[in-house]
Amino acid sequence: MNNIERIEKLVVFQNLYNREKEIKNLYAEEEKKVDKFKQENDSLSFTKNEMTINVNEMNKKINEELGKRDEINKRINSLDEGKDKIKIARQIKSWEKEMEKQQQELSLIQAQIDYDTSKQLEIKNELEKILTKIEENSKKTEELENHINSITKEHKGELEEIESKKDQIRTDFDIQFIEYFESLLKKTNGFAIVEVDQDACAGCFTVLPTILQGELGESMKAEDIEIHQCPHCFRYLFYQSWFEK
Ligand SMILES: [Zn+2]
Repeated sequence: MNNIERIEKLVVFQNLYNREKEIKNLYAEEEKKVDKFKQENDSLSFTKNEMTINVNEMNKKINEELGKRDEINKRINSLDEGKDKIKIARQIKSWEKEMEKQQQELSLIQAQIDYDTSKQLEIKNELEKILTKIEENSKKTEELENHINSITKEHKGELEEIESKKDQIRTDFDIQFIEYFESLLKKTNGFAIVEVDQDACAGCFTVLPTILQGELGESMKAEDIEIHQCPHCFRYLFYQSWFEK
């Protein structure tokens, strides 16, 4: 394989790379959105788990408080039932004192129950919102993925063909060279090999040094043609007319 053939293959490789990119661009936006929704749902799920633990712990606490309230109510009832049996004034006084104490405890525990219940309700409402959001995100993700799938399905044959042609060309070059060329394709957004346009690199528009111009002429003999890079942007250079040789 001579250098003209090599250069021609690099141009074909570049065209394949760009066509592949063009197809992938058809759903690049959707892929970005899918990533965003998935990330958001990961962090929402984390919050959801923490809140669920919180709600369960509060359930436990409220149940304990309800148990205490039952105890107090029982004591109050039994005080009520025993009231008639008390005849002595001193005992009545101590009964009243005990009753007052129990009533106070009852109102304290009731206030605690009310507070914790409303707090728990707030968390439950927040949790409900998070669950709705997670569901919405999952639905949107699914729709986007269906859209992406329909595009990739439509272009499946072409993408496979591109990949196999690229693989074929890769075997024609040193692995190091082709890996470098591919990284250059990425870096230059698909323009790693460009034409020389009036002695300038068509990639970065820098006029090439005179010495390089001498080695790159349009009218060079096929066997003298070498693969050169622009000294400024490192893109590979060629003349379209070389391919007609
Ligand atoms: Zn350049």
